Amino acid sequence: MNVALKNKHKVLVINAGSSSIKYSLIEITQKNIIASGSIENIGETKDSSTNFADHEQALQYIFSTLKKSALINSENELLCIGHRVVHGGEHFQQPAIINAEVIENIRDTIVLAPLQNPANLLGIELAMKHFNTVTQVAVFDTTFHQTLPAHVYHYAVPKAWYEQHGVRRYGFHGTSHFYVAKKAAQYLCKPLETLNIISLHLGNGASITAIEKGKSVDTSMGMTPLEGLMMGSRCGDIDPALHFYLTNSQKMSLPEIETALNKHSGLKGICGENDMREVHKLADSGDKNAQLALDMYVYRIKKYLGSYFATLGHVDAIIFTGGIGENDAKLREQCCYNLGVLGITVNDSKNNSGKSNHTSSGCLEISDNNQAVAVLVIKTNEELEIALQSVACLDQEN
Ligand code: ADP
Repeated sequence: MNVALKNKHKVLVINAGSSSIKYSLIEITQKNIIASGSIENIGETKDSSTNFADHEQALQYIFSTLKKSALINSENELLCIGHRVVHGGEHFQQPAIINAEVIENIRDTIVLAPLQNPANLLGIELAMKHFNTVTQVAVFDTTFHQTLPAHVYHYAVPKAWYEQHGVRRYGFHGTSHFYVAKKAAQYLCKPLETLNIISLHLGNGASITAIEKGKSVDTSMGMTPLEGLMMGSRCGDIDPALHFYLTNSQKMSLPEIETALNKHSGLKGICGENDMREVHKLADSGDKNAQLALDMYVYRIKKYLGSYFATLGHVDAIIFTGGIGENDAKLREQCCYNLGVLGITVNDSKNNSGKSNHTSSGCLEISDNNQAVAVLVIKTNEELEIALQSVACLDQEN
């Protein structure tokens, strides 16, 4: 890092999603989170006390609160602002320092991620207004998956759709998969470049990634974050012919279908609840739809686990992360049930031992001793990873 940047030791990370905004202020030398927060349900009318009509209002509030607080005494303390951008298309192979050209390229990607990238872009533009002397960096969910081989990222559709319209698998949750893979390598005391890992990010959105010698070689989310595993309210894999049937025979409109597949499907579509804790409660009280939702959720994970095992041939570690992966011992046990033949086991007492048993590196190993595959629970930290990648991007430039 050059001398001029040395005195700047804080990084602000903005994760502006479609209905929520998360932020973290990070002391970068210690990798310490000084402050973090989130504003949820933007644009919804139900909670009048914390309600923000739109992203602009919510971001204005966050930026002016941070500026007024003692947390950021002056813009000079900020080394940079790191922005999560969901879709980088094929254009962005690396994080990028934001300038007019980068903004235009992100804007061009909106067609691929109409639900996510507009909010990300607004976050960037407002941050530039509020902190106009601070360097801003875009970190993309898609960059970790730029190593997918062509036979994995192509869909079996007319090739011209790829060449002319960018139709291909891009993959998402890249910062999280990369962060936990690095943590696993630290825990196993081996270089990441020597490890084969299957990483499961199970939060409201969910994805699974096959990592070969440290590089993403397959991932369940596709051209958009709708494909793959069953999620809180997203459908995951479905038969694309369903669209023709629903539009042609059932006269549903495309916007109706789009909303249903993104917001009213997944766990919510099957049992009415998208929070996994509530789904368990319902299932435990005998609700058959909740049990069906759980069975479907676990079955699909196992199906992907099996196929990624076949893809990788040898697996050193499986990682559970995200709100569900980190906290739901019962689900972890079910996902690994009866997979002893692959060297995957879950030890009951380790699996239920809770967060206090995490090592200092933030890992909890839940497999039996001396198994071929280490099953790990690792708390993700996308904001820290965005900060680290932003700083690395600045260092490359300077
Ligand atoms: P996001 O994908 O929005 O970042 P998170 O990774 O925080 O979300 O995951 C949120 C989900 O984690 C919640 O919807 C909830 O279902 C699940 N979750 C949180 N705590 C638990 C828990 N103790 N047991 C089961 N699921 C949990």
